[in-house]
Amino acid sequence: MKIAVIGTGYVGLVTGTCLAETGNIVTCVDINKQKVQMMQQGQLPIYEPGIETLFHRNIIEERLFFTANLAGAIADATIIFLALPTPPGADGDADLSYVLGASKDIALLISSYKVIITKSTVPVGTADKVKAIFRQNTDVAVAVVSNPEFLREGVAVEDFMKPDRIVIGTQDERAKEILTELYAPYVRQGNPIIFMDERSAELTKYAANSFLATKISFMNEIANLCEKLGADVDMVRLGVGADERIGKRFLFPGIGYGGSCFPKDVQALAKSAETNDYDFKILHSVIQVNSLQKNVLINKLNAFFNNDLKGKTFALWGLSFKPETDDIREAPSLTVIGHLLKAGAKVVAYDPEAMNNVKALIGEKIKYADDQYDALIGADALLILTEWSVFRTPDFNRIKKLLAGPVIFDGRNLYSPHKMAGFGFYYNSIGRMAAG
Ligand code: NAD
Repeated sequence: MKIAVIGTGYVGLVTGTCLAETGNIVTCVDINKQKVQMMQQGQLPIYEPGIETLFHRNIIEERLFFTANLAGAIADATIIFLALPTPPGADGDADLSYVLGASKDIALLISSYKVIITKSTVPVGTADKVKAIFRQNTDVAVAVVSNPEFLREGVAVEDFMKPDRIVIGTQDERAKEILTELYAPYVRQGNPIIFMDERSAELTKYAANSFLATKISFMNEIANLCEKLGADVDMVRLGVGADERIGKRFLFPGIGYGGSCFPKDVQALAKSAETNDYDFKILHSVIQVNSLQKNVLINKLNAFFNNDLKGKTFALWGLSFKPETDDIREAPSLTVIGHLLKAGAKVVAYDPEAMNNVKALIGEKIKYADDQYDALIGADALLILTEWSVFRTPDFNRIKKLLAGPVIFDGRNLYSPHKMAGFGFYYNSIGRMAAG
């Protein structure tokens, strides 16, 4: 099949590459000409495990193309994916200008039947708005489909190639047939393609992300309570997660969720509820808890250093909002860095993939280390902000030698408090008693 993917960010690039991998001819479009040029030269604009091989193979085998020319890309394509940003607008609602703008551009260019598929996360009712734009700007028949994307950055290729489910919102029988054929290679193990109406599909994505964000905020509150009650959140997590109705995954406490999806999607669902005269109370709490949780490590630091962080140096391990990505959108690390700099502290950071993105955002306000141990030299404490695998079993003796004081604040509970006390560290983590 001939496919155009509009927008080549984390979702668009993975979608385009993975669709080319099963034999489709895919043209990816982006308005960022520099990015398009990079990809045309075989360079990836993002870090995402597993994508590199597929990206190169499909470019070489001429199934994957990149362009800034929308008209050329959609002329022959029956299927057009919209993988465009839907950032929060001024009032917390999703900004639909990218999706609606591109829909109008496409409507004015087409001369044959197209299946227009929204992969972006969009509020309920967006499919109706997209349909209206096509009705107003062209006589050509189109099917407008809501096909929300559930991939996770860091395992995006795996998620796309073997999704738990594919949700397709459409009433158009021809579009259903085309998409069933398109997605068949990805659901060979029997995972479902779930067909539904557009509104339910749009809401499914927000409900899924908001539920996951709620799970995180709930466990963060349990962790905070553990510290007050002298309980160990790791034990509570195991005890709770063994119940199949709850499940073992997504129960890890930390320093708040970040990324480009959870914060904006929870906010957008709360706003959408409000617009429709419904006060979604849980979501307000989820947002509030998350914002407080991003300060938890700073509060612990202030308590330890008697509110005097001025002139002290802190080593940070991890900047991306989660491991295996270079994405720093809404990352808790940015909140922590902001507080430290405001308090007059110095920051030396190390991240395996995200340092360039932080540098592009805040420049030389902090120092960037060549490796994880380099960051520690002479620092008053180490702060662990992202659970990259390379941080899981470090050389603790080396850490102790390099730090000015043997102090670790761990926002991701990577180590055993008992073991850390044995190494002679003061070790403070989330939802467990401080050790040392
Ligand atoms: P992104 O910001 O990484 O990428 C968007 C891309 O679209 C950018 O490259 C931008 O230059 C391009 N673009 C903007 N306007 C354009 C236009 N008119 N024509 C062509 N290209 C244009 O965004 P993303 O993270 O890929 O997210 C896209 C959508 O998918 C969002 O709605 C997001 O909520 C949703 N989503 C994201 C994830 C994720 O993990 N990132 C997962 C599921 C769903």
